[in-house]
Amino acid sequence: MSTALEATLDPSLRSWVDAANHDDCDFPIQNLPWGVFRTDGSAEATIGVAIGDAVLDVRAAVETQALHVDGDLACALCATTLNPLMAKGPDQWRAARIAISALLAESAPARHELLHAMNDVAMCLPMDIGDYTDFYAARHHATNVGRMFRPDGDPLMPNYLHLPVGYHGRASSVVVSGTGIVRPHGQLKPDDGPPVFDVCRLLDYELEFGAVIGTGNALGDRVPMADAMSRIFGLVILNDWSARDVQKWEYQPLGPFNAKNFASSISPWVVTIDALTPFRTAGPARDADDPAVLEYLHPVTDDVLDVRCAVHLASAQMRAEGTPAMEVSRGTLADLTWTFSQMLAHHTSTGCPMRPGDLIGSGTVSGLTPESRGCLLERTWRGTEPLDLPDGTQRRFLLDGDELTITAWCEGDGHRRIGLGQCVGVIEPAR
Ligand code: MN
Repeated sequence: MSTALEATLDPSLRSWVDAANHDDCDFPIQNLPWGVFRTDGSAEATIGVAIGDAVLDVRAAVETQALHVDGDLACALCATTLNPLMAKGPDQWRAARIAISALLAESAPARHELLHAMNDVAMCLPMDIGDYTDFYAARHHATNVGRMFRPDGDPLMPNYLHLPVGYHGRASSVVVSGTGIVRPHGQLKPDDGPPVFDVCRLLDYELEFGAVIGTGNALGDRVPMADAMSRIFGLVILNDWSARDVQKWEYQPLGPFNAKNFASSISPWVVTIDALTPFRTAGPARDADDPAVLEYLHPVTDDVLDVRCAVHLASAQMRAEGTPAMEVSRGTLADLTWTFSQMLAHHTSTGCPMRPGDLIGSGTVSGLTPESRGCLLERTWRGTEPLDLPDGTQRRFLLDGDELTITAWCEGDGHRRIGLGQCVGVIEPAR
């Protein structure tokens, strides 16, 4: 690790923004995640960095020369999306990080005029997403779903341990946290009759993470494992909303389609791979009798990210009565069988180009225990084990008015806690 990067991760580093120094804060000075915000509906979208309970107005910091970066990088930091910064590559991302750390450090003069209260700004999608691909990288999720949908035979398909399985999703329906999720219509097939076109009844969430691509690759080029992590700009929380009744009827033979394309939510703050450095480990773990992975997928750097996550559910009634949201599940990204590096190396193994701002979903993060199952399909075992909510109702799948919140964070001895913030969505009635 470079000394300059190491200095920005030093757990003793403090900020002149008081809230950033509290132990349970998602956004200490060691984090410095990137986002895009507006101060009101008519204002231009502006790049910001989260610090404590505030947002640093990066463009204002550049324009007032409070932030010391060279001209080209300064230009990217004044854009209305993160794409120009993402395209610049890891050396420039790090230069910006080091400059912002210096600006916000306790040893520097306080510049409160460059901050907005986080509660006073509206967060936008942080980048233009050209393409979105969703993987299926947690074997416990794939095993559970396989058991439910194909009870006879091996729950894992024969390819599962050889390659990261994925499908091409829709970038057009990726929305920022807080956007309402309209219950979709779809073609449903009752067990005892012909298909009907109706409102989805089995609406589900999927607890996932998204890797945001920084620098891409040219058409025809591959991204080798050794370079894969340095192509990733950072991580967001991802909720891959899923219409299970639509999915059940449509998914064979070409995989998910309308069951997934109506909405996917992401958290607004992109936490950089640099900020996650202390939480990288070797792996992923494979069982003794798993087949060896082919060489182009061999891990060569510490690519497993130990990011914890939790899901909370609150019905409309619970929110009206002030009842706290109920924890539904809890997991870690380290449970995945395939890393984001392997997903990227496999995705580009044909020469398929990735572009700055492209989004790669991990697939539902599920572990071995029932509490670590990352969607209601698994958590309620296809509705056969409903959850009891504090308002006296039960949930098999999501009802209108339900609010789903995913939070994620990293923590470990000797390191500052790094939060990814939250990804929230409320289910709205079908239109
Ligand atoms: Mn998914």
